[in-house]
Amino acid sequence: MRVGVLAVQGAFARHGAALAELGVEPVFVRTPAHLVGVQALVMPGGESTAMSRLLMTSGLFDAIADRLNDGLAVFGTCAGMILLAREVLDGRPDQRSFGVIDLTVRRNGYGRQVDSFEQDLAVSGLEDPFHAVFIRAPVVTRVGSAAEVLAEYEGIPVVVRQGRVTVTSFHPELTEDHRLHAQFLQEVG
Ligand code: GLN
Repeated sequence: MRVGVLAVQGAFARHGAALAELGVEPVFVRTPAHLVGVQALVMPGGESTAMSRLLMTSGLFDAIADRLNDGLAVFGTCAGMILLAREVLDGRPDQRSFGVIDLTVRRNGYGRQVDSFEQDLAVSGLEDPFHAVFIRAPVVTRVGSAAEVLAEYEGIPVVVRQGRVTVTSFHPELTEDHRLHAQFLQEVG
């Protein structure tokens, strides 16, 4: 399977390493040409405002939007969640998102005093808890009826799926536990 990792900014290398450990050679996507033949895409954590700007200047925004409209499977983590959400609060005015999962998210919504923390979470589909690393994570403030919540932390959704779109507000690529990547690949493959 050909799996792309959006690689304009952020923690793309760790996602690539996670995929490689699962036996999938990642394609780092920096231009529209890199999307050709890609059957699934990962959008990493990083800085969604910078990613949005680089997506526009590289011509990738429209190319990815077209593929997403055609049903491309996508896994977005942290800033990746922000990029995929229907509505973004506390974004920059010129920040764009793909709007393919019916969520409202608030950037940096966990607040300054706890802007990075780690938490073991029960995730639907996984037998044992997942150690989740949150870094200036977005808070989900609304979940549309078509979206399915797979994990919550203190009553707030942190893993959500809608069809072929899966998002986490934390960074599953920063630990050695690749079960969420494996689950995504299984659904796609
Ligand atoms: N706060 C970042 C943003 O708004 C996301 C943080 C992250 O991806 N670790 O894009």
